[in-house]
Amino acid sequence: MSKNILIVDDSSMMRLAVRTALIEAGYTVLEAVDGVDGLLKLQGDIKVDLIVCDVNMPNMDGITFVKKYKEDPKLKFIPVLMLTTEEGQERKEQGKEAGVRAWMVKPFNKTTLLNAVSKLLSV
Ligand SMILES: [Mg+2]
Repeated sequence: MSKNILIVDDSSMMRLAVRTALIEAGYTVLEAVDGVDGLLKLQGDIKVDLIVCDVNMPNMDGITFVKKYKEDPKLKFIPVLMLTTEEGQERKEQGKEAGVRAWMVKPFNKTTLLNAVSKLLSV
């Protein structure tokens, strides 16, 4: 059965690019436009196996989103890959504290992204 990946990003162009790469690789994709929407999608019927998440978004940023879902015992084991233009060490530290284990900088390389995704799904 194919794995379900939730993309959380306020940029529709970025969601399209990531979605295309993931669907080509055989994954099923769900999308959310910000952290608030991301939390809603996580409460839905489809079990999410991995999250690919932007940092800078309106309503709720990616770090806050990760902190929030990691507080939920049913959701906290879902791995997350941050995909962002944000390269600052401080942001990365905040991410790490929130439970982020993988950080990738935009624009992304398709092969690198797919490798990271399959690695996170295999553990
Ligand atoms: Mg953004």
